[in-house]
Amino acid sequence: MSGTPLAPVVDRVPDGIVHVALPTPFPVGPVNCYVLLDHPVTVVDPGMLWADSTQLLEATLAANGRTFGDVAQVLITHGHPDHFGAAGWLADAADASVVCGRAEVPKITQATDRPSMIDIVDRLGIPDTMRDTFRAFYEGVQQMSHPIDPRRLHLLDDGDTLPAGGRDWQVHVTPGHSVGHVSLYDPHERVLLSGDHLLACITPNPVLEPDPDTLEGRRRSLVEYLASLERFIRIDPLLVLPGHGPGFQDVPALTEATRRHHDSRADEILEVIRRLGEATPYELSGELFPHLRDFSIMLGVSEVVGHLDLLEDDGKLVRQGHPHRYSAA
Ligand SMILES: [Zn+2]
Repeated sequence: MSGTPLAPVVDRVPDGIVHVALPTPFPVGPVNCYVLLDHPVTVVDPGMLWADSTQLLEATLAANGRTFGDVAQVLITHGHPDHFGAAGWLADAADASVVCGRAEVPKITQATDRPSMIDIVDRLGIPDTMRDTFRAFYEGVQQMSHPIDPRRLHLLDDGDTLPAGGRDWQVHVTPGHSVGHVSLYDPHERVLLSGDHLLACITPNPVLEPDPDTLEGRRRSLVEYLASLERFIRIDPLLVLPGHGPGFQDVPALTEATRRHHDSRADEILEVIRRLGEATPYELSGELFPHLRDFSIMLGVSEVVGHLDLLEDDGKLVRQGHPHRYSAA
């Protein structure tokens, strides 16, 4: 995480794309929604059913001569509630399809019931008392979301082409922040809609992602994220329009700064482990991010677990027991 931009910010959007920042109740602040005005009219990340979000979206459409009825597609970059909460509602209002990465379907259709998430907290040393916090969070999210009719779903895979707003977008699936996260790239104007994969002012959290088919019961989110970073260095977009915060350019610079951040965070975590002798991910999160409360603790634990995976791959840590306790190798 960081406050100052990791790459030069750019205050413009290309013709035919309109940006509106929609409010969320989360610490991350507003989510960037983009309306692609031309055929097929597409709304990217319509936010949540919270505060005046849907009125803002309606006013943005109206200011550009469009109504909900004109919207043909609602694209969800990834299945986190700040991005998809209102998607089902908008799709119903517009009779539109809901477009997202294939691997995101469980998250957007079962937002309230995450037994596999509650399962992995055991291994991370998260106290039982936190379970109620997680349940309350998911219930709160349900209040601000609208169910998505599965018949509306149009699923994307890496390498697909998606016509939207008068452009043919390349679909890039980049696991890390979320396993089925999609970014859309227009190779003509070299514009990238990056969702939360690339952000100017914060490094995306390697959010814990349950996966019952793995030994760990979860994805190795940060390892996957760093592998996904490569791809947009090669593509080198001229303009990146992200899911939060300002647009920016210079993906190679952003990527370099991101790698440095993760290297120094891993060093920092190894130092804390040496000082404590051994610790669970939850205990480490408390040491590094003592200010976190409620569900945000989960983001701190995610950040820690991601770096523990890196350190383990480097042979610097040993893991034992249940819950997992880490010590220096
Ligand atoms: Zn987000």
